[in-house]
Amino acid sequence: MRAEYMKIGKCIWCQNEKPLVSFFNKPHTISKQIGGNFIGFDICDSCNSYFGMRDKTTKYLMSVELAFKEIFNVTRHLLPDVSDNNKRNKQILKSIYFEYYKSKGIFRVKKRFEIKYGFLKDFTRQFKKGVYEVFLQEYHRNTELGLDDRFDKIRKFVRYNKGDLPLYFADNNGIYLLSEDSDKPFLAFDENNLSTINDYGFYEIYLFGHFLFLEVTPRAEFTREIYMNNKAKKMVGSGFINKSIREMKYITDLDFTLQKLRGE
Ligand SMILES: [Zn+2]
Repeated sequence: MRAEYMKIGKCIWCQNEKPLVSFFNKPHTISKQIGGNFIGFDICDSCNSYFGMRDKTTKYLMSVELAFKEIFNVTRHLLPDVSDNNKRNKQILKSIYFEYYKSKGIFRVKKRFEIKYGFLKDFTRQFKKGVYEVFLQEYHRNTELGLDDRFDKIRKFVRYNKGDLPLYFADNNGIYLLSEDSDKPFLAFDENNLSTINDYGFYEIYLFGHFLFLEVTPRAEFTREIYMNNKAKKMVGSGFINKSIREMKYITDLDFTLQKLRGE
């Protein structure tokens, strides 16, 4: 019998069970293309393929996962090498929206990445969905509790494109504190992260030098102010490393091309 990627046997996205859905395809919880190598479970084949599919309701046709991996791939390639692990495949980046030639020091944004309201609005929405998608898949992989009701809003937003969820980020001054494993993306679920989810409804992601903050449960609505104030106290302080923590309106709010680091 062919192995299936399931533990509970119910999809964390559409909440369907076998035999209505199947779990044959290997679900990478974080895109392989940005170095992710975790395999999730309880992500059905049709949801798995939906995330890689172009959204036909928008003019620009980018999938949930495309927006996410394009942005983080750019940052990942532009970050200084802190380890030699990935040196070879970091030399050149050729993607749908961006190009980077390390040896020549050339980074180019292609015309297809339009700095226009309509494009940026759609792209940002897809990017935010991509971030929440990774969260729930990794949360479930670590805890097996991704089917909990409190994540229904994430399911609606990410899988059915309904409603909206905010995404906050630390507005960095171009100072990145990188560790040896900075180019291996992972999400932390230690006691501290889990109790923050329970107490505040918030979750913090650190990826390739960027800090992102997600409202993962309805509780966040009531704790938002206090959570954000605490974070700002810790991370902004005198403003040396981070200018502020604020909500992302457009993807271009995030310095994903590391202009400040590169002194542009
Ligand atoms: Zn599903």
